[in-house]
Amino acid sequence: MDNIEKLAEIVNNSHSIVFFGGAGVSTESGIPDFRSVDGLYSQQWDYPPETILSHTFFMSKTEEFYRFYRAKMLCLDAKPNAAHLKLAQLEKEGKLSAVITQNIDGLHQAAGSRKVYELHGSVLRNYCTKCGKFYDVRYIIDSEGVPKCECGGIVKPDVVLYEEALDDSTVSGAVNAIASADTLIIGGTSLNVYPAAGLIRYFRGEHLVIINMAPTQMDKNAELLICERIGEVFSRI
Ligand SMILES: [Zn+2]
Repeated sequence: MDNIEKLAEIVNNSHSIVFFGGAGVSTESGIPDFRSVDGLYSQQWDYPPETILSHTFFMSKTEEFYRFYRAKMLCLDAKPNAAHLKLAQLEKEGKLSAVITQNIDGLHQAAGSRKVYELHGSVLRNYCTKCGKFYDVRYIIDSEGVPKCECGGIVKPDVVLYEEALDDSTVSGAVNAIASADTLIIGGTSLNVYPAAGLIRYFRGEHLVIINMAPTQMDKNAELLICERIGEVFSRI
């Protein structure tokens, strides 16, 4: 039995799969990985992206934040790939209970997934920092400079910036999902980003599967380790 067949068997025998995904899930949809060598960090800006995408920078250099954000963070032409689609299908079949993602692109929902914990938020949601009014991503794209609410407040993406805490209810929902899963599939993440990566320690289920191109700190705990592109893997089960 090869790895793909083993994965298919685990999936078939599972009733509450949780998928925990990272940037690698979206790179196959053409969205660059922040931390990969050919990702955003190697590109030329006045500040490193990690600085620009921080709370301090947003508060102090909001216009420069949005110049970068509009140019690099909004990949709205991206389409769900085979991994997104298969996960949505497994949820419909009642085999998958939740997707937990570190991505902010909304592609799981675009594929049809309903229970999605977005640990780092979503570029598709934006809120006035003064009155809380919602603005969609089109409003951000169509505005110039710093997007403002009709009340005069600054509109901020519902994205967890560096220095900012994760949303409590999102984290507790994700923890509960992991704690009650029979199978945890970790995909497209090297588990380097905390506190998000720390959530997987709540897993108490039977089958831990890791699908990633690079080694992770959890490899030694995995029942099945697949070192292939995640869209490719999910298109074959
Ligand atoms: Zn407002």
